[in-house]
Amino acid sequence: MASEGYPIGRPWLNPQCRKPWSQPNFEGTSWSTVDKTFPTEDSILSYLFDVRFGNPSPCPKCGRMANWYRIRSKRCYSTNCCGGQSIFPMSNTLFDKSRTPLRDWLHIMLLFSNTRSGIAGHLIQRHFGLTYSCAHKICDRVRTHMALIEGARQIGGPGELVYVDEAVLRGVTTPHQKGTGRAIIMGMTNGESVATAIIPNRKIDTLMRVINDRVVAGSIIVTDGFSSYRRLAEAGWERSVVFHSQGIYVNHEGRSQAAIEAYWGVLKRVIRSTYLHMSRENLWKYLGEFNFRYCRRRQSYRTFWDMISQFPPLPATHLPPQGLDYVPRRWREDF
Ligand SMILES: [Zn+2]
Repeated sequence: MASEGYPIGRPWLNPQCRKPWSQPNFEGTSWSTVDKTFPTEDSILSYLFDVRFGNPSPCPKCGRMANWYRIRSKRCYSTNCCGGQSIFPMSNTLFDKSRTPLRDWLHIMLLFSNTRSGIAGHLIQRHFGLTYSCAHKICDRVRTHMALIEGARQIGGPGELVYVDEAVLRGVTTPHQKGTGRAIIMGMTNGESVATAIIPNRKIDTLMRVINDRVVAGSIIVTDGFSSYRRLAEAGWERSVVFHSQGIYVNHEGRSQAAIEAYWGVLKRVIRSTYLHMSRENLWKYLGEFNFRYCRRRQSYRTFWDMISQFPPLPATHLPPQGLDYVPRRWREDF
């Protein structure tokens, strides 16, 4: 599918991506690698075409394989099949209808993949000389893109430990509460990957529904002593409890909540230091962006290339995909 020379698939195995001018101990992707891999606007457009469609690829009208060639004056590919068909590689992706240079886009996406504590819209505005509204829109799209790739990830596996906990996030803006609103987040981690869901309350039915949706059957669930988890055993889950209220932080089986508490610590620090206020409608995007990086924190060579190896269509509204936000839409404004 991909033409020669592009680091598609497992790009970190491609010698093109491990340039000697990268720092020897730096596992991630540096700007020098991106700069050398994509020296021009056209190289990015052709990469985008190769990743999304491939050449040759089927004609959209008749479905026969066709050879595609670039139209120089437009950001478009064309074929002679069916009297001339065209494909715009940027349409239906985060680059849709953008006039910002694609190299700037990749630079911004690289910042998002390499940052520790989030990227503020004003940084992008100053760094790239954009208007704030443009910078804000680009950040929103990159964030949505990351959250869509991350999706509703499932955690655990047969016999694997999954640490489950809930936390309250502050600084969530709703139409009624300007920056004083809150959201309840449920987090699940196996120590490596993490999944979150926004939940309306901490009742038994809510927590059980999220666990049934997002945790792989057969996992051993480690929770605190919170009463809403009491029905786990009834529902067929193996549960290990750490009773924080009794001053126990490592239980008799040697299990603790440290993995999920560490995640909350980093997430809350990022929100407090960089994002400050997030609107309730966009909260799933911020969590998706953060989880995307967090799940790859020990494989940082993947972060940037995972981000540009698939291009899910961006939704027309702010509505999250299934399984990320369990709060009914009509309730959200009340929180
Ligand atoms: Zn055709």
